[in-house]
Amino acid sequence: MHNITLINGDGIGPEISDSVVKIIKASGLDINWDIQSAGADVIEKEGTPLPQRVLDSIKKNRVALKAPVTTPIGKGFRSVNVQLRKSLNLYANVRPCKNLPGIVTRFDSVNLVIVRENTEDLYAGVEEKIDENTAHSIKIITRQASERICRFAFEYALKNNRHEVCAVSKANIMKLSDGLFLESYRNVAKDYPQIKQKEILVDNLCMQLVQNPEKFDVLVLPNLYGDIVSDLAAGLIGGLGVAQGANIGDDCAVFEPVHGSAPDIKGQNKANPTALLLSAVEMLRYIEEYSYADKIEKALFKTLTQGYKTFDLGGELSTTEFRDKIIENLV
Ligand code: ATP
Repeated sequence: MHNITLINGDGIGPEISDSVVKIIKASGLDINWDIQSAGADVIEKEGTPLPQRVLDSIKKNRVALKAPVTTPIGKGFRSVNVQLRKSLNLYANVRPCKNLPGIVTRFDSVNLVIVRENTEDLYAGVEEKIDENTAHSIKIITRQASERICRFAFEYALKNNRHEVCAVSKANIMKLSDGLFLESYRNVAKDYPQIKQKEILVDNLCMQLVQNPEKFDVLVLPNLYGDIVSDLAAGLIGGLGVAQGANIGDDCAVFEPVHGSAPDIKGQNKANPTALLLSAVEMLRYIEEYSYADKIEKALFKTLTQGYKTFDLGGELSTTEFRDKIIENLV
């Protein structure tokens, strides 16, 4: 029996996590979910959107599945997601992006993986208001974090039979910060002669991704470019409803979809649970439950191929109807 932390989130979080938990249970795998609430709903009672108990639970269990959590705007709270990644040193954000069966998009050969640095860059939260008309945000890039994420990307490529790792930057303009990222990539790349190397500027990457996405394999990026390019890549395969992700560190890992809490469709039984389900499938592989991961993935793919979809993909099924079709397809 596995002990896994479940952050069921807010917005559409509780609806999609309920579906995913039920699908995993129906697959026959027994998981002892340690349910930890976080976000806007716990602030009043606990004074913070990310109580220490949540971090303690993940540290103890080493694995968590996380639905989206909203960070209230303008109330002085740092993003729960950023805080979680920093507190647990989840330095690698991994977002595989591959066409799914039954979901028709402009391209049919997208198969890339985004490896995003998760701890620094403009997300370090170092901002200051100089005067009424001027504000500074400091972009922090260190050799240690850059080499660590590049090494992670090359190791990921090796383990997952990928042939190329491409470094993304804007080093022609930010010569010192992005220049250091690129220098770190080149240093690490020397240890992986069997993996093809490539460098690209982030603006050129965006253009090429919407023209020839099949040209890319593993991309390694500093935090902010990684955030933006992830959403672009999600659009290539059918949108946020199907884009999975994981935050991985040396001691623990948190699996979560790329999308946010989508408050506009909260409580309407309309949300697509696919992104969270695919994140959970990767989580099962991480804990080496390969047969259950394959079984659930197969049932999801079969359901999509049969034409069953939620509204974000042009379908008519509710979250729970879609969940039940997946459960019917578990064999
Ligand atoms: P954040 O800033 O927290 O990342 P965001 O502003 O990017 O959030 P999201 O909540 O990720 O916004 O989603 C943007 C829109 O995409 C939502 O308003 C919703 O309409 C749609 N969306 C996101 N996730 C899903 C989903 N799982 N199912 C259906 N629609 C979704």
